[in-house]
Amino acid sequence: MNKSPDAQRMEKIVSLCKRRGFIFQSSEIYGGLNGLWDYGPLGVELKRNVKNYWWRVMVHERDDVVGMDGSILTHPAVLTASGHVEGFSDLLVDCRTCKSRMRADQLVRKNGIKQCPRCGSSDITEPRAFNLMLETHIGSIDPRSGLTYEMPAADRTAGSTPEISSTTSDSQFVDIKRPAGELVALVYLRPETAQSIFVQFKNILEVSRKKLPFGIAQIGKAFRNEINPRNFIFRSREFEQMELEYFCRAEEGMKLLEYWKEERLKFYENIGIARDTLHVLTVPDEERAFYSKGTYDIEYDFPFGRQELEGVAYRTDYDLSQHQKGSSKPLEYFDEETKQKFIPHVVEPSAGVDRTVLALICEAYSEDQAPNEKGKMETRVVLRFHPRVAPIKCAVFPLLKNKEKLVAKAREIVDLLRPQMFVFYDESGAIGRRYRRQDEIGTPFGVTVDFETLGEKDAALRDTVTLRERDSMKQERVAIRDLVNTLTSRIR
Ligand code: ATP
Repeated sequence: MNKSPDAQRMEKIVSLCKRRGFIFQSSEIYGGLNGLWDYGPLGVELKRNVKNYWWRVMVHERDDVVGMDGSILTHPAVLTASGHVEGFSDLLVDCRTCKSRMRADQLVRKNGIKQCPRCGSSDITEPRAFNLMLETHIGSIDPRSGLTYEMPAADRTAGSTPEISSTTSDSQFVDIKRPAGELVALVYLRPETAQSIFVQFKNILEVSRKKLPFGIAQIGKAFRNEINPRNFIFRSREFEQMELEYFCRAEEGMKLLEYWKEERLKFYENIGIARDTLHVLTVPDEERAFYSKGTYDIEYDFPFGRQELEGVAYRTDYDLSQHQKGSSKPLEYFDEETKQKFIPHVVEPSAGVDRTVLALICEAYSEDQAPNEKGKMETRVVLRFHPRVAPIKCAVFPLLKNKEKLVAKAREIVDLLRPQMFVFYDESGAIGRRYRRQDEIGTPFGVTVDFETLGEKDAALRDTVTLRERDSMKQERVAIRDLVNTLTSRIR
């Protein structure tokens, strides 16, 4: 069967990502692990640039937001109060014919009958809930022993470790006193970063002395045991989120929901995603969490369809109220003007780092025609990244590698630029081929040191270089002393 142009485009993107060192399958040499990915030398730069720009506009450039970095391993009580232990699940079904397992919403409906999308069979099991959280154990027990330990009620409030009655001969294993109580050995890998923000709300309010409305931002890993990880890094089991919890008064919630939706759209445009590929879906009442008074999904036109990049939700006072109940600790805000105490409401823009990276690569990937060394037109692969997110900002080339003076000058330029930006030095191969290699990884600028730079042809051109722009391939002559300013003004 012929693949659709979109499927072919996606294949080219995945293969470029591997070939040029953006993204590899995790544990690849052992056959890989489904839904897990490793970022290579260029991928890690791209990802970092996305996170840094998010942090810059969401935290550093604002007076009303502070940051935090919470732990990944999470106390089960936190996720019980938040509702995740009870309800963070997808409905799962099995196809009895081809034995594939999938989310119930992935079944296709033909003539009113639900069918397996892979083999078309309608012999499907009843849907059952599957909790997406990943569990692990902490403490000095070997999870393989099957032991769990329980904390006596008295110790629980003190937050101490459980009492250990004796150890067995094998010091790895501990036999634990088990009065009736709560399981504490089990902890969860957080399914979102947001909960640690709610749990630390009071501490951060006190130390930052912020007044409503204000926000707490966090970037970090989250884990979900997705039933069908797919579409490359779009849906994986380990991923990163960039989340802001913006606390406010109840009456400001709906207005702030609109405000943050607009801010977040601007963010995507500012990193190079065209506005007409972004879409705002108003999540209908029946699909919204019961506590949310309004939710938008910001979607992007991926080659595999229009899919969610980010959710922006007005979550009312649900989260803080739940944690106040769950912990029996007051999480209210005291308004000094009105002398009232209340639980703040919250608006949450929650974005995926990996999905943003994928959107950037999909948006940037293009093929055009450009002349090769001999002037013959060839297909050129270009990643048209916005300079702000491009992994490498500028490549520096001596025209010839066997001319000592050219090499020395090029090295000087690398030293000049390096404190300001990530640069790459390349002296091998014909200059045209070096340009192409940088085009393919999205480097927006190339600086070439040639004989004019040395003043050998025209004294007026001494200490100038050729600055080449990736997309237009236009070249201009720039004085070395102006290079830092010229480049930094274009990449910030
Ligand atoms: P989906 O409906 O696609 O599963 P979601 O609505 O469950 O996503 P949220 O819980 O709102 O997602 O999480 C916020 C953001 O975190 C998402 O918009 C997405 O960018 C990112 N995200 C969530 N799950 C994954 C995943 N499995 N892999 C990569 N990113 C994810």
